[in-house]
Amino acid sequence: MAQVAKTKENLKKCICMKCPSYTFGCKMKNMPANMLGMMMGSLEKKEHFEGMYCAFEESRCIKEGKGCICPSCEVYKENGLDKTYFCLAKGGK
Ligand code: SF4
Ligand code: SF4
Repeated sequence: MAQVAKTKENLKKCICMKCPSYTFGCKMKNMPANMLGMMMGSLEKKEHFEGMYCAFEESRCIKEGKGCICPSCEVYKENGLDKTYFCLAKGGK
């Protein structure tokens, strides 16, 4: 699988936050860090991030798959990804 670049530009395209698997609790918990990530653009050095799971490791917050909307995402199309649920297991299912 192609390595997805951990860029601000890609993060802006990520639609994980709109996904039914990304629970309200996770959103509340991760909002400050995610806002900072959007603004600072220092994502390349990070290992963990709650979002853009195709570029980062799996979530520490999302525990249950309730539908994955990755195939509708621009990053998905641009990188020729073919898996889903990147938030649940490294490399997706
Ligand atoms: S493909 Fe999925 S995990 Fe990757 S940026 Fe898009 S919505 Fe997020
Ligand atoms: S990787 Fe897929 S299932 Fe997980 S939050 Fe993103 S869109 Fe939803």
